[in-house]
Amino acid sequence: MQLDCHSVWLKCLAFIKDNIGEQSFETWFAPIKPTRLENHVLTIQVPSQFFYEYLEEHYVFLLRTAIDKELGKNWKLEYSVVVDNGNQSNQPYTVNMPNKSKRAGQKEYTSPFQLKAIDENFQESNLNSQYTFENYIEGDCNRLARSAGFAVAQKPGITSFNPLMVYGGVGLGKTHLVQAIGNEIKNNLELSNKFILYVSSEKFTNQFIEALKTNRLQEFQNFYLQVDVLILDDVQFLAGKEKTQEMFFHIFNHLHQSGKQIIMTSDCPPRDLMGLQERLLSRFKWGLTADLQQPDFETRIAIIERKMQADGINVPQNVIEYLAHTIDTNIRELEGVLISLIAQASLVRQDLDLNLAKRTLKHVVNNVDADVSIESIQNTVAEHFNLTVSDLKAKSRKKELVTARQIAMYFAKEFTEHSLKSIGYHFGGRDHSTVIHAVQSVNDIITENTDLKPDVLAIEKKLKFKE
Ligand code: ADP
Ligand code: MG
Repeated sequence: MQLDCHSVWLKCLAFIKDNIGEQSFETWFAPIKPTRLENHVLTIQVPSQFFYEYLEEHYVFLLRTAIDKELGKNWKLEYSVVVDNGNQSNQPYTVNMPNKSKRAGQKEYTSPFQLKAIDENFQESNLNSQYTFENYIEGDCNRLARSAGFAVAQKPGITSFNPLMVYGGVGLGKTHLVQAIGNEIKNNLELSNKFILYVSSEKFTNQFIEALKTNRLQEFQNFYLQVDVLILDDVQFLAGKEKTQEMFFHIFNHLHQSGKQIIMTSDCPPRDLMGLQERLLSRFKWGLTADLQQPDFETRIAIIERKMQADGINVPQNVIEYLAHTIDTNIRELEGVLISLIAQASLVRQDLDLNLAKRTLKHVVNNVDADVSIESIQNTVAEHFNLTVSDLKAKSRKKELVTARQIAMYFAKEFTEHSLKSIGYHFGGRDHSTVIHAVQSVNDIITENTDLKPDVLAIEKKLKFKE
């Protein structure tokens, strides 16, 4: 049967989608077009040189694995990069993708990591070499955890930080930090004989279940007992999984007694880890528990600058500050936005400036500060109803005026931080009870689906997506 590039690529995409985040998938894989499949070469078209470089740097293993799975190991991948004059380049770049290589002198054991196709292509320690201390920005938010991690990395199993438990909300840098510890040990020549293993609790659980099903519990356990530095990410995932916890308890005790280092992360402090056995929790307290906090403004700036510098991209200072101001939830989100922004600039072939940042952010984060002020709300509402701003502030009680005024007050309450009193003041010196009444009336318009509801929704949209 003749293979065609579209169906093969679709299958590759399905596999890739299962293995990366949705935003990264949309940003980096959705824009790719497959163009040819012949002579053991799959050619894909990418929108720019930058795209090609980014894919190569960050997703080469994933692409290789997907192609191995769909076509086999003797197939190559070529990129065709759309060049600036709008024509397609007819000479695709040929790329040599790395092949799986075993490090010499490695112990032979059946690793549970070999149960799943994708794992075979990662290094044995399962570490991502991009996560280092070097690029882990220090701030008040992470000082203790970072320095404890660094100490552990110098003397794994020997400091009193054993186990080391790092906790914090999503996207605050837990995985990065614990992987940095692993990489630091791995890159230390004196410690190069250590067997470091990073594993997420979810993967650990799945491997355990697989071993249970296939009668290979002994092998599973033997594998884990050989580890010198065990990094178990997101232990909250073990909640309620009693059999898995029991196995981990056993492995934990054994490793700890033999002076092996254990590092864990969790999304909450150990005392709040519901569904974990008390005897396991009490073990966690033997070492050090350190938390990661939300980064402050300066740390966010430093993180963005660092990231840009690493990717060799120039971003004006006002854009960096805008991003750091707008996105204060977590670092992962900050990075996600940054990546979309770079991709967007490269797609539309435009410099990354404040305008582009503002426009792009609207699609990425909800309710981005569109600088909504009472004045702009009054302008928008007046314009929508063909009135003037003074009409909204006037004393007149004509029905159309009252409705428009109420809608404007309602949005002033929704979208600004002004008090009821201050809102009343901005509408011709009205009382705060008038504002309460306005808010209630507009709520009624919305819940009772009156004729005015489309107007309210249209205004809301204009306010949210204001240029
Ligand atoms: P968590 O595991 O807590 O959900 P991650 O470790 O995956 O968070 O971090 C999310 C992203 O933010 C990663 O890309 C990581 O590199 C980055 N990051 C987190 N903390 C820092 C930091 N202090 N300096 C630089 N990058 C960071
Ligand atoms: Mg994580």
